[in-house]
Amino acid sequence: MGPMKLFTSLCLLMCFWINVPAFAAERKIQVVTSLFPLYDFARQVGGDKVEVSLLLPPGVEAHDFEPKPGDMIKINRADIFIFTGKFMEPWTANLTKGSDNQSLLVLDASQGIILLKDRAEEKGVDPHIWLDLANAQKMVNTIAGCFKAKDPANSKFYQDNSLSYNKQLQALDREYQAALAKCRQKVMISGGHFAFGYLAKRYNLQYQAAYRGFGTDAEPTVRDLLDLINKIKKYQVKYIFYEELINPKVANTLAQETGAGLLKLNSAHNLTRDEWEKGVTFLTIMAENLITLKVGLSCQ
Ligand SMILES: [Zn+2]
Repeated sequence: MGPMKLFTSLCLLMCFWINVPAFAAERKIQVVTSLFPLYDFARQVGGDKVEVSLLLPPGVEAHDFEPKPGDMIKINRADIFIFTGKFMEPWTANLTKGSDNQSLLVLDASQGIILLKDRAEEKGVDPHIWLDLANAQKMVNTIAGCFKAKDPANSKFYQDNSLSYNKQLQALDREYQAALAKCRQKVMISGGHFAFGYLAKRYNLQYQAAYRGFGTDAEPTVRDLLDLINKIKKYQVKYIFYEELINPKVANTLAQETGAGLLKLNSAHNLTRDEWEKGVTFLTIMAENLITLKVGLSCQ
């Protein structure tokens, strides 16, 4: 071995050795989330200290989602897994069974949030907590608390990020309060599933959705549709809302039967591929929803 080659080898060895602690210190916290709002909150709070991935593939309807073995491996390899709550993701009940990752933190983002229960004759718990902008702020705080526990050295960083993001959520919440207090129409009808119960409650709207239960599997009966058509006529509802990731055939039927218009309202469970490419955020989705609601409910 020539002297130059020896020097290069030594240098490579030294550089590698010197770089090991630095590399380890810069390793980002690996975070996996179930739904899009959690993904967005985690990246807002974690900034460049975390690497966040969303379990749901683009365009997949969230209530039907069941993790595949590959998803379970992905969760098992993460530092933190954040889910919405046991009523949104019941499959998380057995998550840590058989896991060999002792340091995995599993975070229920619904902790400390009052869950809404039962509607009409339907029994159950409404899992769509993120659509109330006050709940969204609580979820952001819960996530910040988790990041601080996992990485105390950067506590202030997570704290500052959560405060500034929550300020944006508060500002949008105030816009909602102001705009939705001035609507001629207070009855909000969805041809999709019952996703906007928390939003309606926060802004004093009456809300009814065509689908039974709180998920997307129980389509309305003919009787349900006839009741809804009567309600649309009775309250002179001008627009019916429909959702991106659910077939709008029910909303279309309601519109055809009543002459009402259709408006798309985004319940933000997940993004389409197109939305990913556009780089939409939870805040841009909710800001757009407010514009839609103002049209749909005839707000000044
Ligand atoms: Zn839903």
